[in-house]
Amino acid sequence: MRVPVVNLGALGQPREPAPLPTPSGALYRKPNPDGSRKRCGDCMMWVREKRCLIHEKSLEVTDDLVCGFNVFGAPLDKWMEHPGGRMPVTPEESGLRPAGPGVACASCRFYQDQGGGKGLCFGVSKESDRRPPQPVDLLGWCARYESV
Ligand code: SF4
Ligand code: SF4
Repeated sequence: MRVPVVNLGALGQPREPAPLPTPSGALYRKPNPDGSRKRCGDCMMWVREKRCLIHEKSLEVTDDLVCGFNVFGAPLDKWMEHPGGRMPVTPEESGLRPAGPGVACASCRFYQDQGGGKGLCFGVSKESDRRPPQPVDLLGWCARYESV
């Protein structure tokens, strides 16, 4: 019988799994200044005509969605063409997903509350040693979010 060959790396040791992304690699956002949770309705790229400036104009984006490029700010009333043209992102690229009343670390399965609006995240790694847990804010959020 032919035994399958397993590549253990140049030194003959099993390779370590790739480290978790850092907060910046996972697009971590600090809490909104008004204490709200992240959603399209509070994003400066959202258009009240149910559109998002960074996605295809034909895509309906309601205020109860969110994506990894969320930036807190006042939405626009009307669609605005960018004078230099645009290359929109797809929902797959942005991680567009339902947000309901809003998403935050507080409702993420990687979050462990420490009190005082702070917690530890086991879904991203520290910049210093590339290991979890990473201190985060209760109302922060990143693209690795997974609802509990
Ligand atoms: S899809 Fe992303 S960038 Fe667009 S409005 Fe929603 S959160 Fe903002
Ligand atoms: S708790 Fe969840 S949403 Fe918050 S930083 Fe960690 S993975 Fe991202």
